[in-house]
Amino acid sequence: MAEKFDAIVVGAGPSGNTAAYTLAKAGLKVLQIERGEYPGSKNVQGAILYADALERVIPDFRDDAPLERHIIEQRVWVLDDNSFIGTHYRSDDYNKPPYNRYTIIRAQFDKWFSSKVREAGALLICETTVEELLMDGKRCIGVRCDRKGGEVYADVVILADGVNSTLARKAGFHPELDAGNVALAVKEILFMPEEVIQQRFNIKGEEGVVIELMGTVTEGMVGTGFLYTNKDSLTIGVGCMLGDFKANPLRTTPYALLEKLKKHPSIAPLIEGGEMKEYAAHLIPEGGFHAVPQVYGDGWMIVGDSGGFVNAVHREGSNLAMTTGRLAAETVIAAKAAGQEMSAKTLRAYKAALDESFVMKDLHKYRDMPKVLHSSPHFFTTYPSLVTGAAKTMFTVDGVDKKTKERQIFGSFKAARRWRGLVGDAFKLWRAFR
Ligand SMILES: Cc1cc2nc3c(=O)[nH]c(=O)nc-3n(C[C@H](O)[C@H](O)[C@H](O)COP(=O)(O)OP(=O)(O)OC[C@H]3O[C@@H](n4cnc5c(N)ncnc54)[C@H](O)[C@@H]3O)c2cc1C
Repeated sequence: MAEKFDAIVVGAGPSGNTAAYTLAKAGLKVLQIERGEYPGSKNVQGAILYADALERVIPDFRDDAPLERHIIEQRVWVLDDNSFIGTHYRSDDYNKPPYNRYTIIRAQFDKWFSSKVREAGALLICETTVEELLMDGKRCIGVRCDRKGGEVYADVVILADGVNSTLARKAGFHPELDAGNVALAVKEILFMPEEVIQQRFNIKGEEGVVIELMGTVTEGMVGTGFLYTNKDSLTIGVGCMLGDFKANPLRTTPYALLEKLKKHPSIAPLIEGGEMKEYAAHLIPEGGFHAVPQVYGDGWMIVGDSGGFVNAVHREGSNLAMTTGRLAAETVIAAKAAGQEMSAKTLRAYKAALDESFVMKDLHKYRDMPKVLHSSPHFFTTYPSLVTGAAKTMFTVDGVDKKTKERQIFGSFKAARRWRGLVGDAFKLWRAFR
């Protein structure tokens, strides 16, 4: 009989690492399996790390985690082809430890997190792909890996294998991936001397700035871009719904969108001279509340991106991944302590904990957002151009009186047939944000 564990965790991203760490810390016998050469080698993120979710698991993480910059300023820019209009929020409150958010580089961060998981006592095997779940009827009893004699057994298997979880689909826990529910994102890390970054973004020491971008940059597709400051590099990326790329295969490619973004007159000076260090593409599950599948059953649980736990409105994913990983692990620990078997009846406590947490509350709050955005492409085309056009009209001093300018602006909204729709759109957004 092959070796048996209390728990097998598939994947060593934020959700898998949090689950494996929490379980191992509690003294459970844990096997973690990762297909990458090392944890982080296959992982892609912007990346903003939200401190709270990690702090709940590793309170002193700031002592040795590879953190890039703590974020003191958040910018949101709406772009047209030549200009942007934006809001900047900078606060000195974000400049006082303990800091709330950091930029990170996932390859380094995941490696560090994994070292903590192993210190806690979990056994990690890399360069090994779990090919399928071993089922005894409806009950998951282990996994089969792509190694000789690769069958391993456990009381519970935690699927932390990321978006597009083939394992969950094969086992029938997930439906096929819906291109309307996932974004395809590409990003680059551009190396740049620290002093240049500090000067361009008006920051000192390890202060950081992040910029979220929307508008014509996505060429009418539902999506956004981003530009984040790291210690001695910048991360720039753009992502749009996979369904939009598929529907318009000749219009553009993710790579072309990113190249266009890099050449935008408001972006190009910020990244000028940057030397490309890394290029990556990845999917992001953005279906929200209605796309979350069944996340537990007899002997199995789903955490992180595999369960679609991403809040696209607030651009949060890694914190939901860590929180779901922790709640799944705590459910298993409590069940073990009570001597219960890992049946669906026992593991439903995980779903109850999720419902009580910010994870499901936030996803529920924005449950209509995917539908509203996906059915309103003009939010990403017409409105950005109208808003930047209005700013240009108003701020150009050319002897035209302001009343006439106001009429011109209203006229441009009318011409775009958006004037009456504006009230309806505002109402739709208000309802979806409420
Ligand atoms: C471009 C981009 C930018 C993002 N920016 C942010 C951000 O700024 N902030 C934020 O909070 N979130 C962000 N996210 C989302 C965030 O990256 C994810 O929500 C998070 O990584 C999910 O963690 P996870 O552990 O569930 O999955 P992953 O990080 O995808 O980890 C899954 C792991 O499982 C392994 N694996 C998969 N299948 C198998 C198998 N069969 N056998 C063994 N191993 C397997 C993979 O190699 C991988 O290591 C971003 C995502 C992208 C793509």
